[in-house]
Amino acid sequence: MIKRKPLILTLMTVFLFILISKSLASATIVDLSKGEFYSSADVYQMALKLESKYPSIIHIEVIGQSVDQKPLFAVLMTKDIDDVRHRDDFNVYRQHYLVEAGTHARETVNPLIVMKQIEDYAMDYYQDEHIPEFHLSQELEDVVIHFLPLTNPDGFDLVKFGKDSIQTQEGLTALLRVDDHDYPNFKAGITGVDHNRNYPQEYFDFEENVWVDIWQTYLNQFYSDQPSGAFYPGPYPASEPEVQAVMDYILSYDFRNYISFHSRGTIIYWHKYFAPDYYNHRTKDLAQSVSAVNGYKLSDQDSGKGSGYISDFTSSQTLKPLITIETLPAWTELPTPNHLYLDAYEKNRLIPLIAIQNGKKIGYHPYRLYVEYTYVRDFEDLLYAKAIAQKYDGEIIEGTGIPPMILEKEKRAHSIYELLLKYFPLI
Ligand SMILES: [Zn+2]
Repeated sequence: MIKRKPLILTLMTVFLFILISKSLASATIVDLSKGEFYSSADVYQMALKLESKYPSIIHIEVIGQSVDQKPLFAVLMTKDIDDVRHRDDFNVYRQHYLVEAGTHARETVNPLIVMKQIEDYAMDYYQDEHIPEFHLSQELEDVVIHFLPLTNPDGFDLVKFGKDSIQTQEGLTALLRVDDHDYPNFKAGITGVDHNRNYPQEYFDFEENVWVDIWQTYLNQFYSDQPSGAFYPGPYPASEPEVQAVMDYILSYDFRNYISFHSRGTIIYWHKYFAPDYYNHRTKDLAQSVSAVNGYKLSDQDSGKGSGYISDFTSSQTLKPLITIETLPAWTELPTPNHLYLDAYEKNRLIPLIAIQNGKKIGYHPYRLYVEYTYVRDFEDLLYAKAIAQKYDGEIIEGTGIPPMILEKEKRAHSIYELLLKYFPLI
């Protein structure tokens, strides 16, 4: 006689199967309750897992290596990413937005905030009720969000796991040259250079018609003249490979605005003393829309002291708004303890989407920079546009609407004629 399984057992097996498959389907990759324990390698692995789980909207691109040979990576997110990123007109086919985090080593919550944003946005793309305020399936038809979740992986690992986290002899030699051994308190990379003092800084002097280098010209009290856990700007601008990679990336696309996450103080920095009024007006507007969501206060106007910030570079080279958002209250301990991750995330979950909303309402500006007949970016004012064009040996074409990616034939002919005139003024 065949022994039959009791019905109750069969039902229990079926129930268990449903339970397991449901929990597998909803299992998330980024777990904020473990935020404190993740290494830079874990963060990179998470990014790769998100790419394999959501391949039609997420693409990971390695954009460089840190001093200790750890990958610096960008996460690109848009609909049908693998088709559209190969298009010649990718730069204007959809608008581009940049979110950056992890520049300062001990500000460890932000890379995880950004990773969780990526996961939540991907989930909402397929399941619209996941983020009730936005429809990612629609957003990602219009925009490409570029996330740089962890731009100082060596520092991130050093503050969490100490010297043993260094994997190359070159990395160890660099760290041992730094006299400051208070590793958990590091903002710098392992060479003792504060990356957010290492960006080139210059402005255009309209009277003299020249670009003026003001890197480390006007200092504030936060300055170190030697490699240290914080505030040492480096031997020269962009001396650090991490900074070079981010700079190249910033200039590779026509980003409409930028978000840079730091910690701490629950404040938003927006003003640039050397930038034109329209820049500060737009940046303040962006800061206000973000503040309305995360509740952080706006900074005072920039004193002009202190130098080499990522915002100095982007504002002078692209004139597109960048705001620096300082997550976490001023009293918090850094690197960030586990219990603060969730609240910091909840406050900032929507911020990139708010920045996109703000950028979309502005539209394209009339003065467009073309280098070798290819569109680079647009400017609000002709004088500044010309100053940038002179720097890149490009030309400015006036227009409305979405800029054509490649200059049309007549315009090419026209600009070749102008070029000839420049060299042979008598024709
Ligand atoms: Zn910072």
